[in-house]
Amino acid sequence: MKAILLIGDGMADRPLKELNWKTPLETAEKPHMDKIARDGICGIMDPLSPGLPPGSDTATLALLGYDPFKVYSGRGALEAIGSGVNVPSGAVAFRCNFATVDDQLVILDRRAGRISNEDASKLAESLQKVKLKKFENVEFVFKNTVQHRAVLVLKGRSFSTAVSDSDPEKTGVKVLEVKPTAKTVEAEFTAHVLNELLRQFHGILKDHPVNKDRVKRGLLPANIVLCRGAGTIPNVKAISKIYNVKTACVGAVPLVRGVCRAAGMDLINVKGATGTPQTDYMAKAEATVRILKEYDFVLLHVKATDVASHDGNFKQKIEIIEKIDEMLEYLLNNIDLDSTYIAVTADHTTSCLTRDHEGDPVPLAIFGPHVRKDEVEKYDERSCARGGLNRIRGRDLMPILMNLIEKVKKFGA
Ligand SMILES: [Zn+2]
Repeated sequence: MKAILLIGDGMADRPLKELNWKTPLETAEKPHMDKIARDGICGIMDPLSPGLPPGSDTATLALLGYDPFKVYSGRGALEAIGSGVNVPSGAVAFRCNFATVDDQLVILDRRAGRISNEDASKLAESLQKVKLKKFENVEFVFKNTVQHRAVLVLKGRSFSTAVSDSDPEKTGVKVLEVKPTAKTVEAEFTAHVLNELLRQFHGILKDHPVNKDRVKRGLLPANIVLCRGAGTIPNVKAISKIYNVKTACVGAVPLVRGVCRAAGMDLINVKGATGTPQTDYMAKAEATVRILKEYDFVLLHVKATDVASHDGNFKQKIEIIEKIDEMLEYLLNNIDLDSTYIAVTADHTTSCLTRDHEGDPVPLAIFGPHVRKDEVEKYDERSCARGGLNRIRGRDLMPILMNLIEKVKKFGA
């Protein structure tokens, strides 16, 4: 028995006036999601707890069966390991942005004009050469990921996550000084090292040939690195050890890949998978079918629905839902339906109206040979609320799926 968990990131939504008070899921043409709902068992799910808007990291941890309130240890380290950067114990990782500041260090653009991967790579290469002579044994890894995004890992000494961000997360204000948020030697040391490193980064970036060339081309220079979200690797037991299954993730965004990596899952690289609305949807569906021969549990993640929601673009969100439906059609046509369960859900609600994550529950449908089929006919927020699973927590999903594929041991005699 095998299981596929298909997650449309932020796919759930609230009713919109422009859609006659329907949600994008209620509006989209998605016959295969509806088939999963019609022939499966449905419900709604609070990714974390009712009314609490989840991050993609805490929600994915929950959907993989962990208690995020106990194990979550910040976003930075998850993003780093999802980008292939090792975060050893004692190290601390940050999410970074290349940004543009003026001479007074006032932020003009937090994304340096959405700098290209090519320019960002050249700048990151130069920054990696910085020597932190003042601090003995301190090492760092700085790696650009997608466009303006990057990760930074401080290691070699004992560092703390109890430091503030240098990124004020808005423009028109000055870059912040990093401060310790706890009275420990480690927190003070971490803030001290980070401020010094970011100062040296700025020194290199402001006169860098790549930036001089960008200005000539009428582009914003990436003359500063902003940091936020200090984190360590969550201390969790691998899913493979908990359930004795082989697990893999088909997904492109570093954060979700990082959560899966922390859960001990193998990360599958798919050519053309980008984590954007322009991703190669079918390549991901094909990869899922291909690896299912080897794995018991595959998490198939699509980021694009969340991207469209944050842009408030409900029309694009509907189109993306329809593309996810085509992925599902491919799965249904190419897997052994007698031995495979498919769960379809979202990691959270992202409202096209508020353009943010919200605390509403998400729809869930589980399809497979032996589920207790219910009366629900359609896959959407309101239809699934009438299903046989009723209302569950995000962290209940994994035991339910693992029990269906016969991997949960009895509790008691
Ligand atoms: Zn998400």
